[in-house]
Amino acid sequence: MPSFNNPLWVDVLKTFSASSLIRSRLLSRRQQNPVTYCCHRFKTQDLPGPRSCGLLDFLWLYNCRSQPQSACLAIGHTENQSDRHQSMPTFSHSRIESFRQCPRKYFYQYVARIRLPEVPEHIATFLGSRCHDALEWLYSQTMTGVIPSREETLTHLAQSWNQEWSDDIVITDEGMTPAHYRSLAAKCVGDYYDANQPFDDSTTIALEKQVRFPLNEQSGIRMLGHIDRLARSDNGVWHVHDYRTNKKLPTQADKDLDPQLAYYEIGIRQMWPESVEQVQLHWHFLRFGVTITSTRTANQLEKLRQDALATIGDALRRGRDEEQFEPIESGLCRLCDYQSICPVKKHEITVNGLPANRYRSEPGVVLVNRWAELKAEKGDLNEQIAEIDEEIDEIQEALIEYAEAEDVSVVVGDEFEATVKIDERTMFPRKGSEPDEYDALERTLAKSPFWDQVSSMDAARLRSLWKDPAAFYPELRKLLKQYVWIEEETKTRLRQRKG
Ligand code: SF4
Repeated sequence: MPSFNNPLWVDVLKTFSASSLIRSRLLSRRQQNPVTYCCHRFKTQDLPGPRSCGLLDFLWLYNCRSQPQSACLAIGHTENQSDRHQSMPTFSHSRIESFRQCPRKYFYQYVARIRLPEVPEHIATFLGSRCHDALEWLYSQTMTGVIPSREETLTHLAQSWNQEWSDDIVITDEGMTPAHYRSLAAKCVGDYYDANQPFDDSTTIALEKQVRFPLNEQSGIRMLGHIDRLARSDNGVWHVHDYRTNKKLPTQADKDLDPQLAYYEIGIRQMWPESVEQVQLHWHFLRFGVTITSTRTANQLEKLRQDALATIGDALRRGRDEEQFEPIESGLCRLCDYQSICPVKKHEITVNGLPANRYRSEPGVVLVNRWAELKAEKGDLNEQIAEIDEEIDEIQEALIEYAEAEDVSVVVGDEFEATVKIDERTMFPRKGSEPDEYDALERTLAKSPFWDQVSSMDAARLRSLWKDPAAFYPELRKLLKQYVWIEEETKTRLRQRKG
């Protein structure tokens, strides 16, 4: 039977011991067969796909010595189990960006693969697809040596519009009709035609080209993407074209930072290493008749690759445990398809769908509304308290003056009396208000034999250092590891609802 003493398992245990929760789970299962544990922990057994081994992700991530498949075998997977783990995940620009935007959204979409109910197509998507179709058809004709006329191209667009149109397509912009969008599509394609005819500035190599390439040979992580049009001009420059029907025109700086087409450049440089020297990335914003072109240096591409691998590593390291993928709330939540199951938005979506009377009595709504009322009342009271404190301060100052003038130390009222007494307080330099003197005092004491009596451990400082491993000496971190523990604390906060 495979054993936990296998060096690979030692790596697994060591690394996961960073999380006390996982460590406790591991320790409680230590008596188990590691393969059974692996399948249980990483949920590999019941997943049918070829790539389903969280352990494999882990082994890749922590640069284990062996190839992933042999690593599986080394910890005791059978040939059969290991064969299922041969291929590594394929990432795309949108998958990477999904994780960067919100790990929980990424989890729903790419890890749990939650199926969403079919929703009718939005007009923006339909418009983009029809323009893409028309331009694909236009260039497919030019590739055969026939250049279609402007009218023929627009006729093709109109035919495809009619064929694909459905009355279920959703239009949300007020005042817009299907006819408006139809003429908008004709304008987009017509303007593009006028600006680019006679289409002889480059030779089209591929249309709607799927690019799939390894982002890292060793790990087997692959990237996947689609290039709308790939072309090469006579001067040897390669061109990656992308058509957009966005409502907003981005800036040159936006596109210089946009990673999507730059990933494709990495791909085509790998696919044609001998031929590709210079690459230009073009975004055609069809509504505006504007093309934004950007180029990338070798260093920029390498940084892009490294950043992508770091993001992918972070995503894989979290395994398949939903709790590891924290939701990140942002303005993009309103566009997220998973609002009805996400803990950040679920309640809002649920109660927004309730009739007014049930909304008012919904327990969560009742609690938050009551808290908000009490908070408002507390705010009013705090204001009154602040006014009272101010008046007390003024009275105390007046009493001190009175006591000095009358040479008394007790001043009487009806039921109370006030004492006025001068107290002496011993002071030493404080870190916040007298930092130089504080440092000088600390240095002096540290050199003296009394340091042990006046110094003490600063737990708050240790906590903040612990959270930032980069700021910590590794030896000290190692030493403290045996003393540190994590306590869960649930916090509640009342805030204004947006929009
Ligand atoms: S609703 Fe917001 S926080 Fe929740 S999964 Fe979507 S993007 Fe993330």
